[in-house]
Amino acid sequence: MIKFLDLYQQYLSIKEDIDRAIKFTIQNSSFIGGNAVKSFEENFAEYQHAKYCVGVANGTDALEIAIEALALPIGTEIIVPANSFIATSEAVTRSGYRVVFADIDTDTFTLDIEDVSRRISKKTSAIIAVHLYGHPCDMDGLRKIVALNNLKLIEDCAQAHGAVYKEHFIGALGNIGTFSFYPGKNLGAYGDAGAILTNDLELAKRCRMISNHGRIEKYNHVIEGRNSRLDGLQAAILNVKLKYLELWIVRRNNIAQRYINGLYGINGLELPLIMPDIRHAFHLFVIRTKRRDELKRFLLEHGIETAIHYPIALPKLEAYAYLRQSSQYMKASVIDSQLLSLPIGEHLANDDVDYIVKSIRSFFEN
Ligand SMILES: *Cc1c(COP(=O)(O)O)cnc(C)c1O
Repeated sequence: MIKFLDLYQQYLSIKEDIDRAIKFTIQNSSFIGGNAVKSFEENFAEYQHAKYCVGVANGTDALEIAIEALALPIGTEIIVPANSFIATSEAVTRSGYRVVFADIDTDTFTLDIEDVSRRISKKTSAIIAVHLYGHPCDMDGLRKIVALNNLKLIEDCAQAHGAVYKEHFIGALGNIGTFSFYPGKNLGAYGDAGAILTNDLELAKRCRMISNHGRIEKYNHVIEGRNSRLDGLQAAILNVKLKYLELWIVRRNNIAQRYINGLYGINGLELPLIMPDIRHAFHLFVIRTKRRDELKRFLLEHGIETAIHYPIALPKLEAYAYLRQSSQYMKASVIDSQLLSLPIGEHLANDDVDYIVKSIRSFFEN
């Protein structure tokens, strides 16, 4: 069986380092805060070319804390893409703002810039750009829109560690960027973890304060915050894995290129498009076909696990029925029945990729 994701194999490849880091953290009992957290924050900021990093408990909290730190006028609207994981829109509503979905571009599956412009109203206060599947959004286009309309720009980078837009790492291209280290992400912890990046010192301070009970020192609480901290064990593990991230992203890009070369020219199959001047992080390799469900079944019968991101566009979920907008997101609602994510990651050998290519070719030949 070719697995979609194989975290145990990844662990075995770095076992000594990981075991040592875990043991060291337990010996020091630095379970919350401490050196591992501090050094991971510094290392991750440096890797992503951002000034400040604040570790938090997970990627959803990172979004909520970033939104709160921006202090947008209460009740205003935040634009999010119609195709993402629900955490993106959930964080908006949970923070007391109104979700406005914008349609997506069917080449990159990220925000459709023209549709974003159309959705802007007097009440819009921010845009959340999701670098979905690891492909950076059109940041020049978005920055133009936020400058013109005096909005804040948040990057949801949960799927895009290591992605590069026009020679700049994503994460600090807007006002603030949020990351998830959920185990299956390109950089994953051994549990929940997340981080916030920004180049704005005041914003970084506010995020840290919010995530740690509103305090600036022990028992000196300036505001009411919350408990959303990156724990020491996760930071120690992330510090080890961060050393391999660049290698893993290069490997993901090699696999993607191998897929693209092997699958090129099949009738009825569309391959991911990579815009010029970017480096894709290839968290997911997503193909598009009208015969999606049939292909998924066929590949499973041939020992290949695949996945769907996402089976239901956000505006079509029951959670958003109250918006009564599902019919307005034509592009997002067409593709949710056609997308299929193929296995990608450093657990795959070239032979695995070639076997997957061969299987897909034989499916379309019949
Ligand atoms: C994974 C993910 C999140 C949420 O991260 P968690 O760490 O699971 O809370 C947010 N946005 C996107 C696009 C994601 O893929």
